[in-house]
Amino acid sequence: MDQGIHITGLSKRYGEGETAVDALKDVNMSIAPGEVVGLVGPSGSGKTTLLKCLGAVIEPTRGHMTLGGEVIYDSDHDGWKTRDLRALRRDRIGFIFQAPYLIPFLDVTDNVALLPMLAGRANGTSRARALELLQALDVAHRARALPSELSGGEQQRVSIARALANQPPVILADEPTAPLDSERALAVMRILNRMASQYQTAIIVVTHDEKIIPTFKRIYHIRDGRTEEEAGEGRDIS
Ligand code: ADP
Ligand code: MG
Repeated sequence: MDQGIHITGLSKRYGEGETAVDALKDVNMSIAPGEVVGLVGPSGSGKTTLLKCLGAVIEPTRGHMTLGGEVIYDSDHDGWKTRDLRALRRDRIGFIFQAPYLIPFLDVTDNVALLPMLAGRANGTSRARALELLQALDVAHRARALPSELSGGEQQRVSIARALANQPPVILADEPTAPLDSERALAVMRILNRMASQYQTAIIVVTHDEKIIPTFKRIYHIRDGRTEEEAGEGRDIS
């Protein structure tokens, strides 16, 4: 089974009968390990619904999804492949949001080490992993600081370290650069590209941020619940 992310024939209907909404009709996506792709579409086109299905937050109506070489959902064979969706979300998927959402009373290291600890790793191993990631993201010098003592850019980097903490094959980023100015938005994209290739993570970035769209080599456009693939400009930002 191929690594990365593979979605075929994915559909999602909310509700039933006359008030049913077909938020996803036929979504097909394939993202290789180490690849960063954009998912672009107008409001109401199904972006959040797609991330929620892929993130095992809601159940699709039909289709097939694999993450990191494992089938996670197949509507022709009993739906979810695991009964422990909490563990799937915690261990196999990294999430990055528009805001960093760090825990204010834990220091930077523990904010990152928390997820490996929840996954059952020893405290020492979890903190060592956190420090390694903080180093890779150039925030190791802030390892003992509280989130409120960091700049916005540093907080964002810590949230990226957290997303990588359990070495997930997949990261889902929902509008990660929306509130940032051009320079900082490009800095975040540079980091995501570097992390994707360093850890062979497949990354989907949901965005309509014109500042970063030229950086993608491939883009999926989503319109009215259907995806279409397009070559991006792939501008070099390294
Ligand atoms: P986007 O993130 O691209 O703005 P969404 O995935 O949030 O789009 O929504 C896609 C469609 O599904 C919209 O028509 C929206 O109104 C509808 N929708 C989203 N969530 C629900 C829900 N929980 N119940 C019913 N309809 C929903
Ligand atoms: Mg949305």
